[in-house]
Amino acid sequence: MGVGHLRRPGRSTALVVLAAGLMAGCTDSGARAATTVRAAAPAPNAAAPATAAMGSVRLVTGYSAINEGTVNRVTVTVRFPVAITSADIALIGASAPHCTPLVRGADHTSGTSTCWNTAGSPGTATLLATARLTGRGRSATLTSAPVPVTITRRVPPDVPVATYRRTSSCGNDSPYVWLTFDDYGSTPEVRSILATLRRNDARALIFPIGTWARANPSLIEAMKRDGQVIDNHTATHADLSTASTATVLREIDHGARPSTSVWFLRPPGGAGAFSTRLTALAASRGYSLCFWTVDTRDWAGTTTSQMVQKVRYGDPMTPPVEPGGVILMHLHGRHTAAGLQAVIDAVRVRGLRLQPLR
Ligand SMILES: [Zn+2]
Repeated sequence: MGVGHLRRPGRSTALVVLAAGLMAGCTDSGARAATTVRAAAPAPNAAAPATAAMGSVRLVTGYSAINEGTVNRVTVTVRFPVAITSADIALIGASAPHCTPLVRGADHTSGTSTCWNTAGSPGTATLLATARLTGRGRSATLTSAPVPVTITRRVPPDVPVATYRRTSSCGNDSPYVWLTFDDYGSTPEVRSILATLRRNDARALIFPIGTWARANPSLIEAMKRDGQVIDNHTATHADLSTASTATVLREIDHGARPSTSVWFLRPPGGAGAFSTRLTALAASRGYSLCFWTVDTRDWAGTTTSQMVQKVRYGDPMTPPVEPGGVILMHLHGRHTAAGLQAVIDAVRVRGLRLQPLR
């Protein structure tokens, strides 16, 4: 029996408060933001006054900061004095919100719905859940307390948005998803990754550290022989954002030599290293900067199922993979070699294809 249905509110996002200020860096706190019941606006045929006795709706995000462009889950819990026969749950103040039908508890007087919120522009958003509940002649529209969420800007402040977009997706304007692997790895890790890529006819971009590449010529040769693409991740994994111009150029010049005619530089340190200055210095050596759209955070020990989750659904800090997406992994990620097939499958489950080898 259906007790609810999907509701897609229009773009009435008047409750979104957008701050103009640019937010730098990630401020993921993981703090649980929960709310209590508030205003109850009874429908005309409501049999009870608008008090807490009419029921309640509660919104829990599980986070207080999200990255722009990410898709994020919230949980909405409702309680009603009588068995619920119809429920209409909506998330207000979110970008592209959608909610699952209410799943009622055993006695039918409570229930839970999961909603999704796509992070909009950087700033502050205020999320509210509403629930229109009906049961045994009663009807009420309940509203949760507001939950503020900070939307973190991923674009560095001094970089034009168009440049940022092109750099994030590594200039990938194809419909294919690119897998990328950074740094260094043990021989078994690298050979396992190469074998999985070969089996899946997938061409990846590999960004080895220059000193490691020179110390492991047979692995670099194996990569090239397989048709994988080598690009530059600096000579020593230096932080280019604080380095002098001379150091930046030396780090670029002694990085691994790109194996194709399009040269990409991936500066260590992630988006913090991305600036107009570095874009220009890289260009002076023939390089475009290359970042990513999906960060598996495999370097932090992320499990295979967490990596799959990030690729398929995204999380507060990374959006799900899309056509032309670029997935960041590391040759030394604790679960990367073993979990690579699952990551590849997750891309395909989304109906996307990897860049083929030829
Ligand atoms: Zn690195």
